[in-house]
Amino acid sequence: MPTTSQHTDSKSAGSLGSEQLSQSVTALKGVGAALAEKLTKLHISTVEDLLFHLPSRYQDRTRVTPIGAVRRGDEAVVVGQVSLSEVIKGRRQTLIVRLQDGTGSITLRFFHFNTTQKKQFQKGALVRCYGEARPGASGLELYHPEYSLVAQDQPVAVEDHLTPIYPLTEGLTQNRLRQLIHLALAELKKAQVADWLPKSLFPNLPSLKESLFLLHEPPPDAPVFELQEYKHPSQHRLIIEELIAQQLSLLKLRQQHKHHRAPVFNGTGNLSKRMLDQLPFSLTGAQNRVIGEIQQDIQQASPMLRLVQGDVGAGKTLVAAMAALNAIEAGYQVAVMAPTEILAEQHFNNFTQWFTPLGLDVAWMAGKLKGKARQAQLDQIAAGAPMVVGTHALFQETVIFKNLGLIVVDEQHRFGVHQRLSLREKGQQGDLYPHQLIMTATPIPRTLAMSAYADLDTSVIDELPPGRTPIETVALADTRRDEIIQRVSAACHQGKQAYWVCTLIDDSEALQCQAAETTFADLKTRLQGLNIGLIHGRMKAQEKADIMAQFKANKLQLLVATTVIEVGVDVPNATLMVIENPERLGLSQLHQLRGRVGRGDQKSYCVLLYHAPLSRNGKARIAVMRDTQDGFQIAEKDLELRGPGEVLGTRQTGLAQMKIADLVRDQYLLEEVNVAANKLIQHHPEHLTPLVERWLEGAEQYAQV
Ligand code: ADP
Ligand code: MG
Repeated sequence: MPTTSQHTDSKSAGSLGSEQLSQSVTALKGVGAALAEKLTKLHISTVEDLLFHLPSRYQDRTRVTPIGAVRRGDEAVVVGQVSLSEVIKGRRQTLIVRLQDGTGSITLRFFHFNTTQKKQFQKGALVRCYGEARPGASGLELYHPEYSLVAQDQPVAVEDHLTPIYPLTEGLTQNRLRQLIHLALAELKKAQVADWLPKSLFPNLPSLKESLFLLHEPPPDAPVFELQEYKHPSQHRLIIEELIAQQLSLLKLRQQHKHHRAPVFNGTGNLSKRMLDQLPFSLTGAQNRVIGEIQQDIQQASPMLRLVQGDVGAGKTLVAAMAALNAIEAGYQVAVMAPTEILAEQHFNNFTQWFTPLGLDVAWMAGKLKGKARQAQLDQIAAGAPMVVGTHALFQETVIFKNLGLIVVDEQHRFGVHQRLSLREKGQQGDLYPHQLIMTATPIPRTLAMSAYADLDTSVIDELPPGRTPIETVALADTRRDEIIQRVSAACHQGKQAYWVCTLIDDSEALQCQAAETTFADLKTRLQGLNIGLIHGRMKAQEKADIMAQFKANKLQLLVATTVIEVGVDVPNATLMVIENPERLGLSQLHQLRGRVGRGDQKSYCVLLYHAPLSRNGKARIAVMRDTQDGFQIAEKDLELRGPGEVLGTRQTGLAQMKIADLVRDQYLLEEVNVAANKLIQHHPEHLTPLVERWLEGAEQYAQV
């Protein structure tokens, strides 16, 4: 990374630029090795880390709420006189204490208590307590509230700022952590803090120092509601800073990438022309545009890193094929990697069909390929087969490429930043890096793409090939399974084909396959006149290929499958899909599955056979599937309902683990963040590294590439 010399210093002084703050937590009074050890579980090792350990929420203990004004769900401090105190005997003993303050009464309920406690609550005693009011047998109740007794003539003590609630770890209490952060704040007060976001970028936001003080110890008049919603200016200050840091780290990756050298593909386009001539259709406008964008990239001597987004059925494979032919024509090898074996096989078949007439060999590699067959493919790859198709097994050490010039990764959302990097390393030959084309059928909402994929250029195939008919989606409870089976039977007897998809929430492939086998047996006895096939992930590659071939040739009318058929599988005569337990799947996955039908010119149907009762979220998801077929809208909804980690598969990328920002909640800030990040790059390049180091854990990994 082009680390400029002026901020190598800032690292030794911590990213806040202060010696005191970069000290170990053990420099704080009362912090020994044992406590320091516990803190590392929260990723806290320095005083500065403590300051960036932010509250997840707040409680307001700065005022006493009249009992009559407490509403259900409130967390409040109340003070009242004991009007009743009794132990109720039942399956377990319960101590009930009624408090009143003239405005109303409230009940405290204790399931665990000792004799001292029981005696404390004398009739007439004045008690101050804090808890969440819940509806109970006797009106509003506080279960196990924090409480203390107040002497009759003593003023009731309240806190002088809102109480922060921090994420904790075992063996550490809120109080202890608050004390520590209080000590850290005292250090912060004395320290000079380097603000890497210049005031001119965000004139209306408080400084970093002010923000940290406010968030750890908000004054009593701080708007609790705003804080809970993460809409307070001090939170904005930090959220924006963290999002900028995230984006910068990705942009840096991209910059570094652009510094590498790559092969230049400037052929005549002769091979592509010959292939297009063989096709029974012509490219869509969108396909042509995206192919043009790719061609611009691969004529440069720096490696392409381009994400092609296109809805299910948009024709991404063909776009990849065109790019591949450019590379091959220039004398380079191309590798196409797919996330599942079924999809890889399908690509293998497509490419073989397209490329064989051009005189080009296609090699195959998958984890299940063993022995001699494997060796034969390895030899072919090493000898320079122009096209290699496979699963991630392609990037194992035993695979040696010859002159690899282009890597195509299909269904990108399953791979994270780190996998992208390792692919790149794998393809490196001498000082040349291969170009990379990444294709996803899970369209990433634009704002999110700016953050999560800022290291990539993007192209969108925003047009489907002509002649597709919309899919009608219906949701039915699985109590109507018999009816659906009849419907499948009727469709198949009319010459159409159908999929029956069995799902399971858990990742256990074994269970999923078992469910499919049971369903297969059941449907076979009930639909005797039909040829029914079964396909799942535990079958041998050859078996799967045979079944797929039979289904494609209409020798099987009904295919019972697990979600292995989720991506890519293409049989235009299949017009009906039944998905069992759709509520267990994410929307984007359902959209992928559903995209297996509606691929021909006949009207297609998708039946979501759900298991009642549905949760609210489940209902919402099913409604989205019924109402739209637009992959972008579905991805947006999926993001709202499930969060970015699930949608992007970013658990590996680290994006989902930000300190304060949340890509979904804070989406509306992303435009602003984008603009600010660019200004920083232009006008304050020396701030970039310290900013990224401040926010990104393990930032070194970015520094090394
Ligand atoms: P996806 O974008 O989902 O990967 P595919 O590449 O599998 O889509 O293409 C889906 C189907 O559309 C394939 O049968 C493919 O041959 C066909 N197809 C691709 N491009 C066109 C086009 N321009 N006109 C007609 N059919 C096309
Ligand atoms: Mg595809």
